[in-house]
Amino acid sequence: MPRLVDFKIAPVLTAASEGRGILDFREALLEAAPPDFVDNPTILGDLVGPGELAVLVVPIDKEAPRGRLILPQVQAIRDLMDSDAMALVVKERELKTALARLDRPPRLVVTDSQAFLKVAADTPPAVPMTSFSILFARFKGDLVAQVEGTLAVDRLKSGDRILIAEHCSHHPIGEDIGRVKIPRWLTQYVGGKLEFEHVQGHDFPDDPSGYALVIHCGACTANRRAMLSRILRCKRAGVPISNYGLIIAYSLGIFERALQPFPAALEAVCEVRAAAPIRAAAPPAPAAALAELVSDGPVDDL
Ligand code: SF4
Repeated sequence: MPRLVDFKIAPVLTAASEGRGILDFREALLEAAPPDFVDNPTILGDLVGPGELAVLVVPIDKEAPRGRLILPQVQAIRDLMDSDAMALVVKERELKTALARLDRPPRLVVTDSQAFLKVAADTPPAVPMTSFSILFARFKGDLVAQVEGTLAVDRLKSGDRILIAEHCSHHPIGEDIGRVKIPRWLTQYVGGKLEFEHVQGHDFPDDPSGYALVIHCGACTANRRAMLSRILRCKRAGVPISNYGLIIAYSLGIFERALQPFPAALEAVCEVRAAAPIRAAAPPAPAAALAELVSDGPVDDL
């Protein structure tokens, strides 16, 4: 120990047999690991092989930035090209026609969360489908941890505090997903009053204990080390953490469908549900609330 102090290395006291200090040890590893070790090498290149096709569904509405795609969409296209795969980019209204014109089904369909319901309806069940937000939960964070966190929605009760966190400090537009639509849907789902707090940028708390659930944006501007550190902070505090796209898929009843490309995540869902069956009395969200959740959302809100 004194030698570590001489070298200015902070020791981490860990006892694996007692499960003590494991999260501290993981955090120390995360801080010390080189970027190549921490960063995921690909967004979706491992899901769509060389020569295969992914269809990317990008709604272009009044909320879409003028004249450009948003960063996650651009990065997904570039990632497919780096993997020698192909991208076909369509608006949600053209998806059905585009799929009908292909001589074989695409390897994957990826959609913006706000078009989830229509894309799920127009994509044949045998074709894997997910969202940019869920791809980014995996790329920037820990998809399995955030899938497990999403299932905590069924344990929420009236009076619980929920933290909604966004990694950048973009200016919210109108009734955006994090400030209005997700809180409204969760309140209806739980059937009681919930307390929502919002943080942006670097204001994520060191200790999130006290919250019943953290819901994070897709963190497209974060590096993976930063996002993993937030997930670890939640784990240490015993607080489940989800993300926007996962919550939306869950609310729409297409959670497993949206996780189809990720077997480890589906396995985690089965394990959590086997251990604690979902709340039997959960009221279904009214159709109007679901329609609001996926319509007119700012597309930068992953
Ligand atoms: S997902 Fe949206 S809120 Fe989060 S960092 Fe990206 S642009 Fe900002």
